[in-house]
Amino acid sequence: NNRSPNPHVVLLPSPGMGHLTPLAELAKRLVLHHNLSATIITFSDHSSGGNQQAFISSLPAGISTTSLPPVPLDDLPPTTHIVTRISVMLARSVPDVRRTLQAIQKTTGKVAAYIVDLFGGDTLSVAKELGIPQFLFCTSNFFYLSFFLHLSTLQESPETAEPLQLPGCIPLQAKDFSRSATDRKSDEFAWMVHHSRCHNQLDGIMVNSFEALEDETARFFREKGEGKPPVLPVGPLITYAGDSVGNNLESCLEWLDQQPDCSVLFISFGSGGSLSQKQTWELAVGLEMSGQRFLWVVRKPTDVSGGGAYFNPQSTSDPLEFLPEGFLERTKEKGMVVPCWAPQAKVLAHEAVGGFLSHCGWNSTLESIVYGVPMIAWPLYSEQPMNAEMLVEKVKVALRPLQTRNDGLVRKEEIAEVVQDLMEGEGGKEVRRRVREIKEAAVKAVSAGGSSYAGLAKMVNLWKSLGNY
Ligand code: UDP
Repeated sequence: NNRSPNPHVVLLPSPGMGHLTPLAELAKRLVLHHNLSATIITFSDHSSGGNQQAFISSLPAGISTTSLPPVPLDDLPPTTHIVTRISVMLARSVPDVRRTLQAIQKTTGKVAAYIVDLFGGDTLSVAKELGIPQFLFCTSNFFYLSFFLHLSTLQESPETAEPLQLPGCIPLQAKDFSRSATDRKSDEFAWMVHHSRCHNQLDGIMVNSFEALEDETARFFREKGEGKPPVLPVGPLITYAGDSVGNNLESCLEWLDQQPDCSVLFISFGSGGSLSQKQTWELAVGLEMSGQRFLWVVRKPTDVSGGGAYFNPQSTSDPLEFLPEGFLERTKEKGMVVPCWAPQAKVLAHEAVGGFLSHCGWNSTLESIVYGVPMIAWPLYSEQPMNAEMLVEKVKVALRPLQTRNDGLVRKEEIAEVVQDLMEGEGGKEVRRRVREIKEAAVKAVSAGGSSYAGLAKMVNLWKSLGNY
């Protein structure tokens, strides 16, 4: 009998490091704190390539991984939106997910829970067929979860100029909607509505957020929850600096060692974000004009829906070629540029870093909060505009150049101004004070006795009661 001694859970992160990392962190918690064992099912042909492989091989004992066979997407036009690409990949993987789940059931006996992220809805029916309880791990926040669950209502209601007021949430103008919901005729919107509908049948939802960050929204879910599947905070679950894997990029950490405390602005647009050529140029000149120190993860410019690097983060051409002439030479005393990828958690944890210009991806946001680094919000795609709105208007840990909200070109003057304000000005002082306050609450939430710690324990108890434990 091959039966695993510990109860087993299976997790299916959709393609992308921004999905794999939080689901793996959840698996780690379950293994280390709750004596479970876990299998993570990964997508093999996603080109986060080396980063994904290195990350997977760093996972602790108790977590196995199994890779799905490659999913051909060659029939999709090259300009196909990321949401559509990921959704098609998931939909085409359903038979392989079934085979994989059956194989896991055979070796482990029972599977206590099958856990997907917001794109995994199509595979839930397979778990149901096999008698495995189904859960969602929302790798974003309660605010986005509210919006996501509201999508089919949104689809059916007329477009209006009135802001959308979801219970317990800040009012949301249509231009700050998740980018896949701004064009209701688009394929990506249809896909998001489809995913939202798939999640009606869940046994429970975990959210990578915490009560102190989203008090009213979390409370709304708790209070309306009587008799319904629970929606519980379990975050922030991030890869801590000490656990993150290096990719021979430690030279930027050595450079940070030489810089004064709290003096460097870190600039990164997540695993998939890229700017247009024009915007890359404005950002370079704006940084130079600001006179501040910076560490910039530079990508080859693209114009594909802001997430052009998502399926090809390790671009073969040298992204530094696209910087203004002489920029590297002129800024070499104050700045460092890294092509494509930096060890972000280690960078944010470094005492030389005093600010983070970020695309506001939720993992990046949580990492910034946990390391107490105030932000400049520069959303590009996905739910990033909603995150930016919350961080600037509600949580008040970020400043924002106005044009990022209008989706226009952010000019060098505006960049220089907001960078100076964050690093040395009054605006920066306030968001820095606030982020340190929230950081304390974040650490408490996931420690024994904290609300997110309790949230996860409650979820595990629910699995026990469902009989596959
Ligand atoms: N990341 C990194 N180095 C980079 C860019 C990203 O380590 O140069 C990590 C980052 O720390 C975070 C994840 O990749 O954990 C990105 O997730 P997020 O949700 O912020 O954005 P996404 O990539 O999903 O847009």
